[in-house]
Amino acid sequence: MAVCMETTTVGRWHTERASVADGGRAVTVLSFGGVAGRRAQELVGAYAGTRVDWLRLPPEWTQLAADVLDRRLVAARVGWRLVLVGAEAPVLAAQARALAAGVLDDEILAEVVDVGGVEADVRSVHCAHCATVHLAPVPVGGLTRCPECAADLVVHHHLSRRTGAYLGYMNDAEDRP
Ligand SMILES: [Zn+2]
Repeated sequence: MAVCMETTTVGRWHTERASVADGGRAVTVLSFGGVAGRRAQELVGAYAGTRVDWLRLPPEWTQLAADVLDRRLVAARVGWRLVLVGAEAPVLAAQARALAAGVLDDEILAEVVDVGGVEADVRSVHCAHCATVHLAPVPVGGLTRCPECAADLVVHHHLSRRTGAYLGYMNDAEDRP
């Protein structure tokens, strides 16, 4: 599969915001799973002097995580910062949700940690054919079947920060007569 490095968004999104904006008065840290929790511990230590609200969540993106985040988003005030630590899928999902709620890019620190195992490779894939999103343990460039329309999708190096999902195109779309 050819990858156009000019248009790919993978590999840059998490380094764009290596540090969160200064001037934060309150920080909410969401960590997804045990490995992420240990990393979050270090980050929390670096926020001495700031009010830190740290929530340890299950490793995957869950309704619980969405509810917890939504409550923080509703209560958010000027000077609030959001720190996300975990595998790629929950971090991207949380980031997309926060951006949709009006949180600015530089108010979010998103850090993907290597959680190991199958969770590390779980991605949200947006099906270009039926416009649904599903989670699949698939690497970028790999194949996944859309559970909605049964299309075999190639996971492309195009990541939507709005939805937190990778774009999936039909595998044989270009080979068909
Ligand atoms: Zn589909």
